[in-house]
Amino acid sequence: MAETIFSKIIRGEVPCHKVYEDDLVLAFLDIHPIAPGHTLVIPKEPAATLDALSETSAAALGRVLPKLCRAVQRATGIQAYNVLQNNGSEAHQAVFHVHFHIIPKPNSDQGLGVGWPAAPLAAPDADRWRDAIARALA
Ligand code: 5GP
Repeated sequence: MAETIFSKIIRGEVPCHKVYEDDLVLAFLDIHPIAPGHTLVIPKEPAATLDALSETSAAALGRVLPKLCRAVQRATGIQAYNVLQNNGSEAHQAVFHVHFHIIPKPNSDQGLGVGWPAAPLAAPDADRWRDAIARALA
């Protein structure tokens, strides 16, 4: 994986506003927040996208994410929030080191705006994608 700014933050070569650290995970404030308390949670393992991450780092992230969400809620006093995780430039990923955004949503005008072009799941598509994804897991 190519070196990113987050590798430098993990090594302490670039400063950050750290809110949490353990052996496998680091959390710090986003430098360009879209809401008060916007926090990034990253594995120390250098994986570009979530699909490339080890189960050990994934488990470590999963263990601390709820606790960090609660801390952001308490600190900001904002109960609603989005957890966002982008993979690939088409999906708006800018830093190619896995990261989860915790983004408080104070009201409908602030925080994350989401385009959600939903349509009913057609029966043939449902069968096709269920089978294809289940096969891919095997
Ligand atoms: P992405 O679009 O890849 O999901 O989001 C990357 C995030 O990293 C952006 O929200 C951006 O503001 C944040 N970011 C980029 N460089 C730095 C940095 O040097 N320090 C911190 N704290 N955040 C950064």
